[in-house]
Amino acid sequence: MKFTDFNLKDTIQQAINDAGFKEPSPVQKDAIPLVLEGHDVIAQAQTGTGKTAAFGLPIMNQMKADGTVEGLVIVPTRELAMQVSDELFKFGRRSGLKTATVYGGTPYGRQIERIKQASIVVATPGRLQDLLMSRRIKINPQFVVLDEADEMLDMGFLDEIKNIFTFLPKERQTLMFSATMPKSIRKLAEEILKTPKTVSITKAESTNENITQHYYVVQERERDDALVRLIDYKNPDKCIIFCRMKKEVDRLVSHLTSQGFKVSGLHGDMEQKQREITIRAFKQGGVDIFVATDVAARGLDVNDVTHVFNYHIPFDSESYVHRIGRTGRAGKTGEAITLVSPNELRTIKKIEKDVGTKMVTQVIPTRQEVQNTKSDELISQIAGTQITERAINLVKTLQHDLDIVTISHLLASMLQENHSIKGKDNIGLGLDEIEKLIERAMQNRGNDRGRGGGGQRRRRSSGGGNDRNRSGRDGRNRNSRSRGDRNRD
Ligand code: ADP
Ligand code: MG
Repeated sequence: MKFTDFNLKDTIQQAINDAGFKEPSPVQKDAIPLVLEGHDVIAQAQTGTGKTAAFGLPIMNQMKADGTVEGLVIVPTRELAMQVSDELFKFGRRSGLKTATVYGGTPYGRQIERIKQASIVVATPGRLQDLLMSRRIKINPQFVVLDEADEMLDMGFLDEIKNIFTFLPKERQTLMFSATMPKSIRKLAEEILKTPKTVSITKAESTNENITQHYYVVQERERDDALVRLIDYKNPDKCIIFCRMKKEVDRLVSHLTSQGFKVSGLHGDMEQKQREITIRAFKQGGVDIFVATDVAARGLDVNDVTHVFNYHIPFDSESYVHRIGRTGRAGKTGEAITLVSPNELRTIKKIEKDVGTKMVTQVIPTRQEVQNTKSDELISQIAGTQITERAINLVKTLQHDLDIVTISHLLASMLQENHSIKGKDNIGLGLDEIEKLIERAMQNRGNDRGRGGGGQRRRRSSGGGNDRNRSGRDGRNRNSRSRGDRNRD
């Protein structure tokens, strides 16, 4: 399916092309036609699946740009207000649709002026209620959107929202978007939506195909080494490492910092201000690695995260989906990497089943392998470097005492020193060991539940493992290692 199938106005379609969107995401495929037909819609889809465009494009397509406020979008936080506003501005620019962003903590005057010129108002509940109740503004939007509705209720905005709706026209199209659909949301929907159509993108569909999922089997005490080796090897632009506990976050932040990485931690009990500063640093690239707990990372909305690491496998499948959804955000590719100990293999299998996804097991690269990829990177980096005046002078000076080949060797050694890979050669279990462990884990589970089913499950799982392993990892033979044997006893 293509965006052109929606038959949107030329100016809107052009804006979609400008944004570089090639194909509508699942929630967009389902929601856009319903909104265009004029239905009230309640839509559930995970974060990062393109909900803003799912409501923004079809409502803007119906707007006249007649100088009045035609659309109102209510969002939980100031940060989101700015984000959504930016996105809608891009979509509406060519159609002459202006947006106004409205949130607390700033003077009223400018905001009110902007609202008077806008076709779409993006607002947080508190300030919007203020403006309406004090009669500073009066608006008649035909389109009203509650975005991130679950978060809005979590933040305690229910009363504000209900109050705001008393100021809005009865004749309107109302849309509600949310990552989750708890009972409180359904109840609110009953009050403010009229015979709504429901869009629900299930977990399996929304663990998006742009995310490759790998897991590595390590002994408990190897986790730190494995993590550092994998970061060295994958060389992520931006990554998030998930931990189960705050204590672990602190420990990993100092460990990774000592290894020379640019790292920051995110805690549930951090001050909002501090949290914002940390997140901004991460967005702008001052920090490459974020270490976080599930709770702290809730609602974290950062594009361009290339890798998600699960230092420990999460307790439940829902968290797994949430965590890996931080990468591979609409359109881009991402990689999710999970470290498990041998006795967590069953949890892997359970998550695969719950989520309807496949995780591929791999062996942690040896020090030599990582060293080789680093050398390749270094070569292309050298080839791509601009020669500077200062460098020329430096070489001239060196040439007083040394010949040019020696100088090159010295410089190359110096560069490589910064790129040397630490740690022991082999980390984690080899494929043969993993295969046997999986087989055993599945067999045990089978025995718990009765023989027949167990046998079947066992055959299927070990067969699948074989195929994946052989095709992906030819020529690697690490089954001579004895660590796994010890573990098996
Ligand atoms: P959500 O509200 O569901 O969390 P957003 O609307 O913020 O998601 O979208 C996440 C990112 O994906 C944004 O950067 C947006 O520009 C981009 N995006 C949305 N739809 C598409 C699409 N169809 N193709 C490519 N990128 C998209
Ligand atoms: Mg959103």
